[in-house]
Amino acid sequence: MNEHDANLTVYGAPWCPDCRRAKQFLGEHRVAYQWVDVDADPAGVFVFIGLRPNTAFLQGIVTLDESGFIVTDAGLQTSMPGLFAAGDARVGSTKQVAAAAGEGAAAALAIRTYLQRFGEEGPAMHEPSDMAAD
Ligand SMILES: Cc1cc2nc3c(=O)[nH]c(=O)nc-3n(C[C@H](O)[C@H](O)[C@H](O)COP(=O)(O)OP(=O)(O)OC[C@H]3O[C@@H](n4cnc5c(N)ncnc54)[C@H](O)[C@@H]3O)c2cc1C
Repeated sequence: MNEHDANLTVYGAPWCPDCRRAKQFLGEHRVAYQWVDVDADPAGVFVFIGLRPNTAFLQGIVTLDESGFIVTDAGLQTSMPGLFAAGDARVGSTKQVAAAAGEGAAAALAIRTYLQRFGEEGPAMHEPSDMAAD
């Protein structure tokens, strides 16, 4: 099999040690691949997006930081009692998908606890506590 039959495309640069190791691994296992040098070929450009959170609709509703990220307390509650936030839009998030999913699960548990308390204590709910930047 030559590289023109390959289903696999490796995007990398000659100066990248991980790319060299990947090519070595593929070569040793006789896996055909096409090589795209991202320094030379614009098709290999990696689009990095998502640095600015789409949270303008929350302005004046919950506390945002100067970049628009949502401030929560340690329990993921925003400055509005009963409103929780998780993931990339939250101040202090790691911008990693595993963390976003984990925060989503943690927020769901926090919402359940909030609703249980709401049922027991009524609308006089606790204010968000320990409101910190992460
Ligand atoms: C190019 C790129 C590569 C990445 N690579 C990796 C990687 O290799 N490993 C890794 O761990 N992470 C990676 N990430 C980060 C990862 O994608 C995020 O951490 C993760 O998707 C965050 O999940 P989220 O649910 O917080 O936000 P998102 O996945 O961004 O979901 C937010 C959702 O809300 C929707 N939305 C926005 N505004 C509104 C609105 N007003 N009303 C209704 N819906 C709205 C959006 O359309 C979107 O569907 C990458 C991100 C990018 C952009």
